[in-house]
Amino acid sequence: MSISHVVGYPRIGADRELKRAVEAYWQGALSRESLEAAGRELRTRHWADQREAGLDLVTVGDFAFYDQVLDLSVTLGAVPARFAAETEVAAGEVDLDTTFRMARGRAPRGEPAAACEMTKYFDTNYHYLVPELHAGQSFRLASSRLFDQVAEAQALGHAVKVTLLGPLTWLWLGKARDEGFDRLSLLEALLPVYGELLARLAEQGVEWVQLEEPALVQDLPREWQQAYEAAYSVLGRAPVKLLLASYFGGLGDNLGLAVGLPVAGLHIDAVRAPEQLAAVLDRLPTYKVLSVGAIDGRNIWRADLALLRERLAQARIRLGQRLWIASSCSLLHVPVDLEREIELDPELKSWLAFARQKLDETVTLARLLGGSATQVDHERLEAATLALQARRDSPRIHRPEVADRLAGVEPLDHERASSYPKRALAQRRALDLPLFPTTTIGSFPQTDEIRAARRALKAGELSLEAYEARMREEIAYAVARQEALGLDMLVHGEPERNDMVEYFGERLDGYAFTRFGWVQSYGSRCVKPPVIVGDVSRPDPMTVRWSQYAQSLTDRPMKGMLTGPVTMLQWAFVRDDQPRETTCRQIALALRDEVRDLEAAGIRAIQIDEPALREGLPLRQGEWQAYLDWAVACFRLSAAGVRDETQIHTHMCYSEFNDIIDSIAALDADVITIETSRSNMELLDAFQDFAYPNDIGPGVYDIHSPNIPAVEWMVTLMEKAAERIPAERLWINPDCGLKTRRWEEVEPALANMVEAARQLRRRLG
Ligand code: GLN
Ligand code: ZN
Repeated sequence: MSISHVVGYPRIGADRELKRAVEAYWQGALSRESLEAAGRELRTRHWADQREAGLDLVTVGDFAFYDQVLDLSVTLGAVPARFAAETEVAAGEVDLDTTFRMARGRAPRGEPAAACEMTKYFDTNYHYLVPELHAGQSFRLASSRLFDQVAEAQALGHAVKVTLLGPLTWLWLGKARDEGFDRLSLLEALLPVYGELLARLAEQGVEWVQLEEPALVQDLPREWQQAYEAAYSVLGRAPVKLLLASYFGGLGDNLGLAVGLPVAGLHIDAVRAPEQLAAVLDRLPTYKVLSVGAIDGRNIWRADLALLRERLAQARIRLGQRLWIASSCSLLHVPVDLEREIELDPELKSWLAFARQKLDETVTLARLLGGSATQVDHERLEAATLALQARRDSPRIHRPEVADRLAGVEPLDHERASSYPKRALAQRRALDLPLFPTTTIGSFPQTDEIRAARRALKAGELSLEAYEARMREEIAYAVARQEALGLDMLVHGEPERNDMVEYFGERLDGYAFTRFGWVQSYGSRCVKPPVIVGDVSRPDPMTVRWSQYAQSLTDRPMKGMLTGPVTMLQWAFVRDDQPRETTCRQIALALRDEVRDLEAAGIRAIQIDEPALREGLPLRQGEWQAYLDWAVACFRLSAAGVRDETQIHTHMCYSEFNDIIDSIAALDADVITIETSRSNMELLDAFQDFAYPNDIGPGVYDIHSPNIPAVEWMVTLMEKAAERIPAERLWINPDCGLKTRRWEEVEPALANMVEAARQLRRRLG
């Protein structure tokens, strides 16, 4: 037989029980005991799911009330000093409320303090809490939660595999405040604590511990590669068997390193990087287990079991029982249970698999390879083959007119008619804007009333006509407020949009939506990404009516507002039967039609948001350029169909842009509004060596904070910007949309922003 397991399982629960329990606890509506009980109940159910599916090992250590990386930091005693004092309960244990304070800055017990930084886990949409590192840091075992959970699973009679992040990836994900600090210098102090932890697990009778080291699929500096050897030669002596887990990509130049480390087993991602299997097989020492991650932990498509069986047959012959079958990575990144989707049409449903279904796929694949397949397994194999055949042939997926149109796209379709300087002149004449024009990023506060109206529409309590009338009122209100504030380029405020991706996905062919397809994004927050099922096209205009109405209320230019093709792709589950690039081009063409329709309806400026451009970057730098090339081409394809006079804006946020600034310039948007206020114009460092050629609005008002930015502060920031970029090309704007703020905060902040623009015009004009 072949051992089957998963790298990890979602913990939120099929009904988002974890979210409810944790939030109730934060609000004081649930006791600590009840919260712990809710956690126990979820773990019990999830282990039972794994066992009942037939997995040989259940995974312990993937549970966390907030974030598993944070839990590990706490276990290692890496609790920043500002959370100290009252943090400890008996025997040096860090209290759960301290964990919550690290995550959110506050908890039912303990003093509030600045929360730890949160950022995306590799190229996923899951956010972890960044370990805070500093010189001379010491570590100690400071939590026994993991051991308790192991005991809990054992008491339920499960065969346990423990998982935790390995020491190098934990350090890799960490950050030091002090510049020039070498995170690796902490390894020596860290290893004894890992050693102690492994010894304790061994005492509990744990045989296998999975150490997750996804940093191995990235470009590692030489010292880090060497540190892997040093660290694992120590850890390899622990009295447990170690399964070194890589995922999210191929091992690449770290393959020899990973295969050679002195551990009992290696896990590889054979979904993202199937080609590495052969090389690993050739080099794997004969004493080692190879866990092949064959079931996709990053997407929701049903596995092609027949194909996988064929692909892995050779591995099975060569490895025999040393071949294990697994999910490619933790199933944390997919929704919990497809069976909940009772409203999803049966055809689409037959093409999908969520976490619960992926357990079955893993087990069946292992049994098919191991020669112990049952009747059920053969039925599953056959059902998968039939469903996939149907998917391949379905007219719902393949729409010849979309393919034809894509084939007809020419290089010139990516080019505006004239270059930026000529367009800028035409736009200046058409738009008649002052120096330092002021604008906002698109959304205005999404009030409770707006959300209530949308809920009422969905529930059938409000007619579509009444709902739309309500939204028009909101738009009229936002337009009047902006005119009163004296903003130069207005927006309609996006009240009619629930979400910037969902709104468009619902209006495009080729997209589908689930009811319960929640995936943890951070802490108690879950998202429900749309599914791009088939060829994408736009049956009807999506935003034109709203923008046209908003423009009818004012003489000032009204910006049309669209979500860009890369962001539409990035924030969805994307079909896996064609390159992502192709899907992105289809979306770009649909958006191109919308852009042109907006222009034809008299809209003189159109913003195409691409907040997710940077997060689509591949994990290996060598693959960046190829991605950026097609991402930029897709944006240009969506934008380039308009006249010189029509001003194309774009907006980006959430990230560092300095290293991709030339690609951002290559978008050739007339204006970019970009987040920078929190980093104190750090963005401008990029302009030291690179002269950004078009208009730019470096966000001067940090919308993530409820504070009202002072006029002087914004003036100073803009003066700094004006040292690098000619004043004629600078805009004044917030750093992101205002939908999460309240009007009481937005109005005084924008009033200050407009005043800052006036002062700048006087000083620099
Ligand atoms: N136009 C969007 C808004 O203002 C942009 C959101 C974003 O950048 N994430 O809400
Ligand atoms: Zn933004």
